Amino acid sequence: MSDVIKLLSDHVINQIAAGEVIQRPASAVKELMENAVDAGSTKIKLIIKDAGKTLIRVIDNGCGMSDTDARLCFDKHATSKITTADDIFSVTTKGFRGEALASVAAISTVELKTRTPDSEMGTLVEIEHSKFLRQEPCQAEAGTSISIKNLFFNVPARKTFLKSDQVEFRHIMEEFHRIALAHPEVEFSLFNNDEQVFHIMAGSLKHRIMALFGNTYDQKIVPVVENTNLVSISGFIGKPEYAKKTRGEQYFFVNKRFIKNNYLHHALQSAYTELLAKESFPSYFVFFEIQPGKIDVNIHPTKTEIKFEDESMVYAILKAAVKRALGQHNVIPPMDFNMEQAFEIQPVKSTDILRQPQIKINPNYNPFTEEAKTNLRNAGFTQTMRNETRRTGQQNYIQPEVLSPEPIIAQETSVPLKWHEQWGKNYIVLATDEKILMVNQRLAWEKIFFEEANAALQNKAGLPSQKELFPQTIQVSAEDSAIITNLLPELKCLGFDINDFGKQTFIVYGVPAGVDSGASSDFLDGVIENYKNTTNSEIKNPGNTLLAKGYARKMAARCTKLLSVEEREGLIERLFNCPTPDIAPEGKKVYIEFSPEIIESWF
Ligand code: ADP
Ligand code: MG
Repeated sequence: MSDVIKLLSDHVINQIAAGEVIQRPASAVKELMENAVDAGSTKIKLIIKDAGKTLIRVIDNGCGMSDTDARLCFDKHATSKITTADDIFSVTTKGFRGEALASVAAISTVELKTRTPDSEMGTLVEIEHSKFLRQEPCQAEAGTSISIKNLFFNVPARKTFLKSDQVEFRHIMEEFHRIALAHPEVEFSLFNNDEQVFHIMAGSLKHRIMALFGNTYDQKIVPVVENTNLVSISGFIGKPEYAKKTRGEQYFFVNKRFIKNNYLHHALQSAYTELLAKESFPSYFVFFEIQPGKIDVNIHPTKTEIKFEDESMVYAILKAAVKRALGQHNVIPPMDFNMEQAFEIQPVKSTDILRQPQIKINPNYNPFTEEAKTNLRNAGFTQTMRNETRRTGQQNYIQPEVLSPEPIIAQETSVPLKWHEQWGKNYIVLATDEKILMVNQRLAWEKIFFEEANAALQNKAGLPSQKELFPQTIQVSAEDSAIITNLLPELKCLGFDINDFGKQTFIVYGVPAGVDSGASSDFLDGVIENYKNTTNSEIKNPGNTLLAKGYARKMAARCTKLLSVEEREGLIERLFNCPTPDIAPEGKKVYIEFSPEIIESWF
């Protein structure tokens, strides 16, 4: 038998690599603009024709290239940015793998004109489908001008995969926004089919945001700043009242590189909870500066995911910074449930009679520890509620099945429930002999649903499902489809009865009990939201509580309404049957408590 193995030619290798690096015209735009930024340019011009399908040209006034470099830069692994493998742990440039130009040249016609500031003549290089056509001296401005013509001309499969010009241009705009935001010190312009779309001068980040998204942003954003040893955070976040119904301007940058990170998105979004209308998304333009060694830089250049060494710390720092920024700029309403309790101490007046304070505080005391809970139950927690109901003349008692089944033994305890009342739509105030608690109703429901969902997922026991009168057919994005398919058994545990119909289509026969008929697609969307931008292995990560959290959030969102006395009692009972009833799934407080000492200290 004759030999069958042969080495692929460089051209074929580059064409294959191009498939990974350059998926669409916007990817080429990204690579060229990043190279221009890396070259230290202060002015960058982007010219597009037919959504980049016929022409993408980037002109910069950066360092330019020597004659030899102008030719070498199209070779695979030709880069000026790293020398040894160790260097990738300290790269501060956007590129470093030296494969963008080689890839682009494999699938288009490229014309490069470049001149370094100290040489008199420039050089012109032309390459087509990896084939070197010519190099000659030319007149040129200092800097680099690179044109990519007829992208994908020799890759028909890729070409047919491209979307309409409108869609492809939108992708290009998005790349332009990302790079322009990351570099407000650079002047940018963008021409589309000979029309100037943007010309934005160098300036502050705020000016840049306004130049890209409109002058009204002046009023819509507040600064956020935080400096810690691990990470420095700076940028702007949107005021809650301007939050959008769809994910709009949401930008994270790590060391000036745009990234997507659902976990940090969550940190930011959760700092707003209570401030945002349902299902709305705040704008943000947040920059993280972190030592390159603390992030995983060995990522594919086109990937926007990035791994932090200490992601949970960054999460906590970001959330705190955003909360503080909202507080400092008075965008938090006077009573915010999640603010640290800070009590204004009035200055002492000369007429005041000073008394030695008599405060005995046990800072570790928690009325809802297991022991206290047993006491609570033994002391007739539920019984007291029932009596209270009777006394107030209500006929309907709490559902018998939620009552404690044990005989009620009257016993000395610190926290029998005395009184409870609804305050506003979302709070329940309840008093015991020891304390006054203010319970956030939505977070209480979230806690309850979370624990139920978690238990159901762990025990593989189903939560009640409710049949849809008319099965809903829903079609979802490819990303969502992969997530749903992966999670079908778990979703079943939560009460979803869903069939995979193929072609990103699902038929919903049943939804968790209580979910409105017809709202299944919206509900499902919310439940899987946490999974967006996560990888397959993360989806299947055992012990992952993302799904339970998404479910709880969606279920709880339905429950913000005034409760009847018995509904309130049911809620309190279920809440205090949860482990750590004071902590909501995302770590927020479900209630705050006021001890007599604290109350005393106010007067
Ligand atoms: P990388 O950016 O990963 O190094 P590229 O293929 O994008 O790889 O570019 C290869 C090399 O070509 C760069 O390292 C740089 O030296 C040079 N280069 C590319 N574009 C420019 C530019 N606009 N100005 C100056 N040098 C450039
Ligand atoms: Mg590059």
